[in-house]
Amino acid sequence: MQIEENIHRLRQSVPAHVSIVAVSKTVSETHILDAYRFGLKAFGENRVQELIKKQANLPGEIEWHMIGHLQSNKVKYIAPFITMIHAVDNLKLLSVINQEALKNNRIIPCLLQIRIAKEETKFGMNLEDANNVLSSAAFQAMKNINVAGLMGMATFTQDTSLIRSEFRYLAECFKQIKADYFGNDESFCELSMGMSSDYTIAIEEGATLIRIGSFIFGART
Ligand SMILES: *Cc1c(COP(=O)(O)O)cnc(C)c1O
Repeated sequence: MQIEENIHRLRQSVPAHVSIVAVSKTVSETHILDAYRFGLKAFGENRVQELIKKQANLPGEIEWHMIGHLQSNKVKYIAPFITMIHAVDNLKLLSVINQEALKNNRIIPCLLQIRIAKEETKFGMNLEDANNVLSSAAFQAMKNINVAGLMGMATFTQDTSLIRSEFRYLAECFKQIKADYFGNDESFCELSMGMSSDYTIAIEEGATLIRIGSFIFGART
């Protein structure tokens, strides 16, 4: 079975301290179940509609990660069960997640998405935006959010030195933010960076979470 082989190959190249989020967007529930049976526990989706359907149909032990851009009005659908929200890039969204988490009596782990790629992207914030969010009174009053780290996506390119420099910059942002806002607070600990094409570089630069789709499930059609 190809998925099993792919997971085996992936595991051989990923050290134990790095967690794998299997990116299952567009992947059938059957194939997700295969990957789950071969030992993967965390799956990532980027569309709320697809995520809630799969969550309802698949084993309750699966940890679901929202890895894509999230609209505030859709937070309520995933708040009851989501394990982590990876791409939070504004205070408004954080405040809605906080409200919905409170309604569900949960604390939801979130990652701040930092824009690191050279290419134009709509999503993510820069370091200054992140500082503004974290130092705001509004953020500090939020009790049902755990900012657990940072997330970023490198430029889509063959230029591995560019990719490396972008990941290195994100790791720098992580260190600074940790020192400035989290001190010895161990809950700020995740650096979500690296996909199928660049995860080895991301791990070398300090990733703790990698988001892997096509390496596991094959090219998306
Ligand atoms: C699709 C996606 C991935 C996985 O991409 P692959 O190249 O298939 O590994 C990772 N992160 C995000 C945010 C994605 O949208």
